[in-house]
Amino acid sequence: MTLDFAFSEEQELFRKTVRDFAKNEIAPKIHAFEKKGEYPWELQRKMGEMGLIGLPLPRQYGGQEADAVTAGIAIEELAKQEAPTPVLQYAAGGFVALFGQESLKSKWLPPLSRGEILIGIGSTEPHAGSDAAAMRTSAVKRGEAYVLNGEKQMVTIPMEASAFVVFAKTQAEAGAHGISAFLVPMESPGINRYRFPIMGPRAFSFGGFVMKGRSNPEGEFARGQKRGLLRAHEDIRFASHTNSPLLHRPCRSVAQGDN
Ligand SMILES: Cc1cc2nc3c(=O)[nH]c(=O)nc-3n(C[C@H](O)[C@H](O)[C@H](O)COP(=O)(O)OP(=O)(O)OC[C@H]3O[C@@H](n4cnc5c(N)ncnc54)[C@H](O)[C@@H]3O)c2cc1C
Repeated sequence: MTLDFAFSEEQELFRKTVRDFAKNEIAPKIHAFEKKGEYPWELQRKMGEMGLIGLPLPRQYGGQEADAVTAGIAIEELAKQEAPTPVLQYAAGGFVALFGQESLKSKWLPPLSRGEILIGIGSTEPHAGSDAAAMRTSAVKRGEAYVLNGEKQMVTIPMEASAFVVFAKTQAEAGAHGISAFLVPMESPGINRYRFPIMGPRAFSFGGFVMKGRSNPEGEFARGQKRGLLRAHEDIRFASHTNSPLLHRPCRSVAQGDN
């Protein structure tokens, strides 16, 4: 039996649609945002209107329920024109869709799919990268609320995100099994976010945020599920790798003249 890895006719048509959209709508404008160091919300909303932001998310929250290959095609074609690829939104939105309570999904996913807001993922810390189980951010239950203390660093879109999926230790002694995820709105007391300059894209931020006694996170999910942490790491790795077309794809395109 031979496996057929060719794209279907439908996928090829989808690729052409996204390619044309990216060439006509993104390419002429993106460099102005890069120069200004400003997030291209106008383009994000256009991608939302095209259905590209919520591509793999459930239809009931504004998504398209597309498969991973289709989502990959969209990321590749958008990255060629240096668009802010929606891959992080696929990861963060996918996390909320999989593990979030209904109230969280219906509040956050529709505006995310429309390209009106962004959600980030906060796992990495100054002393915890690959070894995420070494994270120190704690979430301690006080009455009905959790109080979060700690710092996330080297995260994407700390300044633009309306909320972050934040990983924190609810049971310090349980290692990776004692880590839970919280959906934390960023515009709230107890959160101080910062940006640091990087060699690379300027239209969106890299940096971190400090949480000091940030209480009552809006939602808690994936509590004590090791799978939750593993999934986040698969997603971040996927996001980091697929974001890298932002850097290497344009170089390759220039070299090959296939832009
Ligand atoms: C573009 C980009 C975007 C990112 N966005 C986010 C984000 O949105 N949210 C977020 O939480 N994080 C984000 N990160 C951080 C990312 O998750 C971390 O960089 C990653 O987890 C690796 O951690 P580190 O950089 O501290 O490297 P380290 O953990 O210090 O690893 C350095 C090197 O050592 C290797 N290594 C580590 N441990 C071992 C071991 N035990 N045995 C053998 N080799 C080992 C690693 O494979 C790697 O090659 C982003 C990173 C990048 C580059």
